Amino acid sequence: MDGPACRACRGRTGHLVLDLGEQPACDYFPRSDDPGPDPVYPLQMWLCSLCGLAQLVADPTVPEEPRGAEPAALVAQAAEAVDRVAAAGLLPDGHRVVEYGSPHGGSWLGLLAQRGVRPVHGGGPAEVVLDCFGLMHAADQSAALAERAARVAPGGVLLLQYHSLGTIIRCGQWNTLRHGHYGYYSAPALTAMLAVHGFGAVTAWRFELYGGTVLLAARREADGADGPDGPMRSLLAEDIRVGVRDPAVLGGLQRDAEARAKGLHDWLVAERSSGRTVLGYGAASRAVALLRRAGVDRSLMPAVVDASPAKQGLRMPGTDIPVVGPAQLAARKPDAVLLFLADLLQAVRAAHPELEAGGGG
Ligand SMILES: [Zn+2]
Repeated sequence: MDGPACRACRGRTGHLVLDLGEQPACDYFPRSDDPGPDPVYPLQMWLCSLCGLAQLVADPTVPEEPRGAEPAALVAQAAEAVDRVAAAGLLPDGHRVVEYGSPHGGSWLGLLAQRGVRPVHGGGPAEVVLDCFGLMHAADQSAALAERAARVAPGGVLLLQYHSLGTIIRCGQWNTLRHGHYGYYSAPALTAMLAVHGFGAVTAWRFELYGGTVLLAARREADGADGPDGPMRSLLAEDIRVGVRDPAVLGGLQRDAEARAKGLHDWLVAERSSGRTVLGYGAASRAVALLRRAGVDRSLMPAVVDASPAKQGLRMPGTDIPVVGPAQLAARKPDAVLLFLADLLQAVRAAHPELEAGGGG
């Protein structure tokens, strides 16, 4: 099959494994009086047969989501990760660090400085080169990894944190696919990508964030690095077992997406037919593709409630549903509330005891 050129190895052999159709930029919320239509772009995931990297196909120019308040879960995870890496002896006092961060926030520099590991200014080398959800934002994966590898001082370590493709498969997280996120990593794919730059994965730590994230440590082969240790080997084996390189397994995400969209659409139609009102809660970027796949407009869901003042007066991208403030929950008295972020459940129940949140398939 003739495909796009792989963002990592430039190979052209691979499979389109997930196609969410034409989608708006999921972090561009227009004003609610902007009638649209919003610009849309194909949203597709392709799996390279050569290096195994799952990746975004199209490369539209989309506005980058600004750094916002860092979710508490991200902050807690960073502290836990720094503790575990330090316990492995990889963060000695006096080491230098280069951080490649994510545009969504989550810097480790403050935590590292407390341990005497300080950033290098300018383009110099460092004993610790850290990438925390940054690499996925690079359209040219090969160039981005080469840049990071080149910054690793002799004997140093490259730390890569990523949301695991194995998790995406196991949890059916098809809506992880979004514009601006170019790479969806597995341990086997990253191992292949690192080998090109003379690096080998030596160990990995796993975290519960987003259902399962991995922090992988790699060293330069020329430094006489040890091979993968037990946890690294078990991660590689587990990823292969889950099917991270199997296009048929990844194709299951397409079925997950279609089932979820159909379930939501049918439920909202049934609720409307029985005269019941359903509001959404959480104007999250990950809700955008679902609402659009499910063909949900304000006739099915009159509003999405969001506590962020910055989102008041806006509407969901790609549909006509306005974003409204939490006061509207009391004013509109919906019969059900559909949470777009499961981790908001406790917070919403606490703030609005009058509600019993409903699920939408
Ligand atoms: Zn490739």
